[in-house]
Amino acid sequence: MSQQTLTLSENTTTETPLRVESLRKEFGGITAVADTSFAVEKGSLTGLIGPNGAGKSTTFNCITGVYTPTAGRVYFDDTDITTDSPHEIAQQGLVRTFQIARELSEMTVMENMMLSPKHQQGESLLRSVLPGLREAVIKQEEKNRERVWEMLEFFEIDHLAGEYAGNLSGGQAKLLEMARALMTDPEVVLLDEPLAGVNPTLEQKLLDRIHTLCDEGYTFLLVEHDMNIIMNHCERIIVMHQGQVLADGDADAIRENERVIDAYLGDPVWAQ
Ligand code: ADP
Ligand code: MG
Repeated sequence: MSQQTLTLSENTTTETPLRVESLRKEFGGITAVADTSFAVEKGSLTGLIGPNGAGKSTTFNCITGVYTPTAGRVYFDDTDITTDSPHEIAQQGLVRTFQIARELSEMTVMENMMLSPKHQQGESLLRSVLPGLREAVIKQEEKNRERVWEMLEFFEIDHLAGEYAGNLSGGQAKLLEMARALMTDPEVVLLDEPLAGVNPTLEQKLLDRIHTLCDEGYTFLLVEHDMNIIMNHCERIIVMHQGQVLADGDADAIRENERVIDAYLGDPVWAQ
């Protein structure tokens, strides 16, 4: 396991940095999320599971500002972010990973990383020619570059810095996605199936890194279909079913929960 650590800014305050209260999202006649409430504890890797159509992705989209909920509230560090834009929410330190878009596959790993930081003080030409500001911008770029190397080393993809993102394996691309999300030094990271198509070695590496980051105070909410990963790695699991929270607890509590067993009886994924 890596001994490397990452610097985390010390602006974290609450024990439950992410709270969702009576969240509801309707699409026309369809209720995707129906009065869902949960809180995610600081420094935890919390799993969000449930069958297809349970409302997991819609919940993520409501939390990250992609959708405005029909009703209910989302709190980040006790601040109501329900109606904030995705950009505003990310700036506050709540981010999700994104797949590397096709346009970005023709840029190197380093270039992809440099695109991300929230601290970046503008590539504005005007700013860079104003006395003093030019120097500040150069300093900022140096700092960003340092952070990029720190991050690439942490995920052990620093040897790929000059590689085109499009040439990375599926697993390496996932590591880059995580590294990129962390460039902004977020407090909470939402992961929607970050391990899909990742080989076991890189999967283990990614999970190791997530655990290390949790120990440092970062918080992760993970949507993942692989029950072994969820049961073995998440200290807490929230089960969604038909837009609602069916159960919420540790792996043992979820395995033994009658409602979970009833709802998924016969589904081999749950029989493991
Ligand atoms: P999950 O991620 O758990 O598989 P989703 O949140 O994607 O579930 O979907 C929950 C329900 O909401 C499903 O019935 C889905 O068809 C519906 N839904 C999701 N997004 C939309 C949308 N943009 N328009 C209409 N219905 C949607
Ligand atoms: Mg989904």
